[in-house]
Amino acid sequence: MIEFDKKHIWHPYTSLSHPTPVFAVESASGVRLRLADGRELIDGMSSWWAVIHGYNHPVLNAAIEQQLKSMSHVMFGGLTHQPAVDLAKTLIDITHDDLQHVFFADSGSISVEVAIKMAIQYWASQKQPNKQRLLTIKNGYHGDTFGAMAVCDPDNGMHHLFKDVLAQHLFAKSPSCVDGENHDCEAIDDFERFLKENLSSIAAVILEPLVQGAGGMRFYSAAYLKKVRELCDEYDVLLILDEIATGFGRTGSLFAYEQAGIAPDILCVGKALTGGYLSLAATLCSSKVADGIGSGEYPTLMHGPTFMANPLACAVANASLKLLLSSPWQQRVSAIEKQLKQELEPCRSLKSVKDVRVKGAIGVIELHNPIDIHWMQPRFVELGVWVRPFSNLIYVMPPYIIEPEDLTQVTSAMHIVASEIGE
Ligand code: PMP
Repeated sequence: MIEFDKKHIWHPYTSLSHPTPVFAVESASGVRLRLADGRELIDGMSSWWAVIHGYNHPVLNAAIEQQLKSMSHVMFGGLTHQPAVDLAKTLIDITHDDLQHVFFADSGSISVEVAIKMAIQYWASQKQPNKQRLLTIKNGYHGDTFGAMAVCDPDNGMHHLFKDVLAQHLFAKSPSCVDGENHDCEAIDDFERFLKENLSSIAAVILEPLVQGAGGMRFYSAAYLKKVRELCDEYDVLLILDEIATGFGRTGSLFAYEQAGIAPDILCVGKALTGGYLSLAATLCSSKVADGIGSGEYPTLMHGPTFMANPLACAVANASLKLLLSSPWQQRVSAIEKQLKQELEPCRSLKSVKDVRVKGAIGVIELHNPIDIHWMQPRFVELGVWVRPFSNLIYVMPPYIIEPEDLTQVTSAMHIVASEIGE
């Protein structure tokens, strides 16, 4: 199986000519992945932010089984169904009051594409068709499709390779201040300068609130985000927040923007929306945006994927949100945060380590040098944990249900691996 896989199947961000190690997984339950060779690994990744309740959850399994009996899929063009309506109601309910309209997308990247379309279409409807560019900050990540890639960090990741075919957007300095009360003045000044100088062409600002994920696992302050909202209001520019990674409790509040006391005009959610069961995302927007689009020359939002609002995905998302909201998720996330802080702090004194940072249920060790995945991935597996480092970052975001002993095994493995680098 592994031999066939190596020859024929692309994995995320890997090469077929220089394959990196791949492990066959047979089943997963709770916070444990069971490999085909019988080994069990404690999961530190939640399958990239998504599996917040753990794998093979009986409530989520039951929701899918139940939905399967009536309808696994039906087109959303001209038809609607209870799972989609229930999910839209819940999303409107748990997000800021301003957000009243929902577009169901089939992945995070697509929800970002839709957000960008909404912003551009809004301004076209306001008879300002020149407003087509986005302003963002460096070190961002918003997905792998072309529209989303064009607002990812211009230097790291894939953006660079495709730069000549990507839409040209604007990138301000990324903020460095992580203190919730203070913002990085230089970064805000840079941001405002971009706004002022390009106002006639800017449709929207797009940001990951408080935590920049795949663009560097960087954290920044709520005060910076608050300032950005103020500037968007002052200069009359829409604010898109990408909470695909941060949404549904990961940073300690249900949505990260809550910590800045603000609301976006457009919000993207995904990943943990279905508890990691099926691919589903959503783009929410305010009535200002929806009415603005609807009342203009281009009233039809031009997007409609085949699997839009898939009933199985909506049903499991409904069950996942119910499970989350009825669980003590805040206590769980803050207990994970406390433990990550305590147990990762000693890594700071290791020679290979540049920085250690924790926010909510996210723990990051930043190294001085890029990792060697060929050595590091099997080493984590030997240590009985599933951690997937990239670039110069060893990071974890475990399922919220992880027990303290299991989390200790994850953080110990991170410490061991970081201490073995360069030996
Ligand atoms: N935005 C952010 C902040 C993300 O972390 C990701 C996924 N890593 C995406 C967008 C893209 O989501 P997807 O992989 O579901 O397309």
